[in-house]
Parts: sequence; C-alpha cells; structure tokens
Amino acid sequence: MRNPTWTRDELILSLDFYMRHKPHFPGKTSFEIQELSDLLNRMGAKNSGDRNEKYRNTNGTYMKLMNFRRFDSDYEGGGLQRGGRDEEEVWKVFSSDLKKLRETAKAIMAIVDTLQNNRAPPNVTCDPLEEDALEGKLLTREHRYRERDASLVRRKKDKFAAKHGKVSCEACGFDFVDVYGQRGDGFIECHHTKPVSELRPNERTNLSDLVLLCSNCHRIIHRRRPWLKFDELRALLCK
Ligand SMILES: [Zn+2]
Ligand SMILES: [Zn+2]
Repeated sequence: MRNPTWTRDELILSLDFYMRHKPHFPGKTSFEIQELSDLLNRMGAKNSGDRNEKYRNTNGTYMKLMNFRRFDSDYEGGGLQRGGRDEEEVWKVFSSDLKKLRETAKAIMAIVDTLQNNRAPPNVTCDPLEEDALEGKLLTREHRYRERDASLVRRKKDKFAAKHGKVSCEACGFDFVDVYGQRGDGFIECHHTKPVSELRPNERTNLSDLVLLCSNCHRIIHRRRPWLKFDELRALLCK
C-alpha cells in the first residue's frame, strides 16, 4: 500500500520548517525532524485514507524537506529532481513571503491542535467548481464552515435587510427577487472576507467579516487559486 501524496497543508508545514532552519538543517534523527514527523502524523490521523507504517516517518519527512532544494536558488544544482506541482506552487507562493508562510503554518497547527482535542472537524462539502485555498485543506474547511454557519448567515442577512430593505449581492447588486420573484426571496450567499491564514479555530466570526454575494460572484472568488479578495472581484466588475 502506497502512502497518500503530500497535501498542501503538509507541504506548507514542511516549507515553514525548511525556511526556519535553512541553511543548517537538523539531521534525519534529530529531535526537530521527529517533532515535524509527529505533527504530520497527528494531522494525517485525522484524515481518512490508508497509510502504511512509513507514513511521514523521519526519513520521508527529511527527504521531502530536501526536495525543496530543487526550487531554491541558494542550492544551485543541489536537491533531488522530484516533486509535484503542489510543491512548486507552495514554494512559489510562500518562499518569498515568510511572514505569510509563518502565519499560515501557525493557523494550520492551531487547527490540528483543536482536532486533537476532539472537536469534530467541520463537515463542509467541497464544491467541484471551486478550488481549495493556497493555504490548504484545513483552512479551506475553516473558511467554508464560517461562511455557511446558518445562524451567522441569518444574522448577516437580517442586518443587511434592515438597512437596505432587501438582500442583494454586495459586489454586483444582483437581487434574486427581481429576477426570480418570490422564489428568490431571502436567497443569497455569505462570503468570509478575512484572509484564511488569519483564521483561528476558536475565534468568533464578526458580522463585519462577512459580505453577501450572489452565487456567481461567490463561485468566481473561489474558482481559482489564489482566491480573489472582495475588492479584486469588485474591480473586475467595474471594467
Ligand atoms: Zn454578484
Ligand atoms: Zn467564500
């Protein structure tokens, strides 16, 4: 049985480790590598899928770290000629923005900790028309969980309706009642605007972090990585 390919979440945690230790990496049998391997195993234990006894062991974890060298210009000619598209994308996005990398790794670790404490992982199904965030699956789930929280969504809609007399898309102005009549009454989606790297598992969501969006606008935001920011979506509509 082969172990599953490395997820974006795992690659982000590994790259964070790589950047913090470069150029003097702890050895294969070091405490630090063991610690990273343990973290990846804790995370993997919460994901379904078959794993064999070598899953993210210290050897594999160390090899994966060294794989990043193939993208690293400080190690010209070094590194192994292996690595997938996700690895390259994670390298491109995060190796030049260490603050974002650290913040994202911390956000992922915070979620792994809450999973350990038996908080049920948010059960949020994926939309085949959407891509996960650059920041990985756990944070994508956290984002979806918040913007689909029924009571929060209701409060957001009520507040908006009280002010504007109706609910409509905050990006393009689409009003479902205008087009579909009563069947469209109250129909609108919520989008959580906070960068996913800043999400923390036990933090409350403020209504001001949510915007109302029609289904088209919402899909376009999540359609490709990196997800569009709300202002970027608005700018597209103004063209
Ligand atoms: Zn819209
Ligand atoms: Zn959204």
